[in-house]
Amino acid sequence: MNQSKLFFGHELADTIHVRTRALIRRLGRPPRCKVLYDRGSAPMMAYAGRQKAAAEAVGIELVLEEYAAADPEVLRQLARICDDDAIDAGFPLYPLPDGLDPIDAAEALGSRKDVDGLHPLSAGLLALGGRARAPATARACAAAIAHLLPSPKGAEVVLVGASRIVGRPLAALLLDAEATVTVCHAATRDLRAHTRKADVLVTAAGVPGLIGADAIRDGAILLDVSVVPTPNGLVGDVDLASVEGKAAIVSHVPDGIGPITTACLFENVARAALDR
Ligand code: NAD
Repeated sequence: MNQSKLFFGHELADTIHVRTRALIRRLGRPPRCKVLYDRGSAPMMAYAGRQKAAAEAVGIELVLEEYAAADPEVLRQLARICDDDAIDAGFPLYPLPDGLDPIDAAEALGSRKDVDGLHPLSAGLLALGGRARAPATARACAAAIAHLLPSPKGAEVVLVGASRIVGRPLAALLLDAEATVTVCHAATRDLRAHTRKADVLVTAAGVPGLIGADAIRDGAILLDVSVVPTPNGLVGDVDLASVEGKAAIVSHVPDGIGPITTACLFENVARAALDR
């Protein structure tokens, strides 16, 4: 029995950072991106600080701004970013303030400054196979698949999770790459019947232990997007001990898809600045 290979995303992230730096050289100045955060959330504050430092290393200025107190005011805050000529892009950190719909937030930001790819124009272009700014996590998964599987054309790719930032946009990206895509979700009747067919399984359900040896075929590539805090640290959906030796490759949590997602987000910021 061969050992499963653990996939880390740092090397691929670095190649994306190289592209982003080239875009910034073309722009001739650091892109400026406003990030809305909740001062009351210690994990969000820590994440915002880490993202700011990581962005600076690539040549992007993240301007952190606290969420306004109430929902209509947050939408006005996003609309001000849309109108601010000194800011190239923006994104609100999750979880969003109570009652704020992500699509309303993206519409307030405007399609040109929304780097999360949630504006209906971006999502519509992506669904139609057009040139679109796709959500960073979906782009990260598509990049990892292209890296690990030289030709995704015709491959069976099964997605567990149909969210707006992972499953739905990733399905569109993979269709463009001519993969055969199955999208499963919480109401899928027989999940394993689908996941066992997968050459590549991308799981983003946020359910630890969901994917074990009985859910995969021999030699499958497993990309675990989920990051779930537990008393034993951060875990994904894949039961690593169970799939060991059966999966060919399993992505590390959180250092598999995570660094690639950050790199794709920064590239989206640089592109937004160039596209203005
Ligand atoms: P979400 O809650 O919006 O969507 C979860 C999806 O999983 C839904 O479509 C739901 O139907 C499906 N699902 C839930 N339980 C299921 C089950 N038992 N079987 C099959 N499908 C099931 O979540 P999200 O925002 O897409 O995030 C998913 C996970 O990915 C979270 O753990 C999040 O922290 C993580 N995440 C990681 C990154 C990264 O860069 N690594 C980025 C974004 C999100």
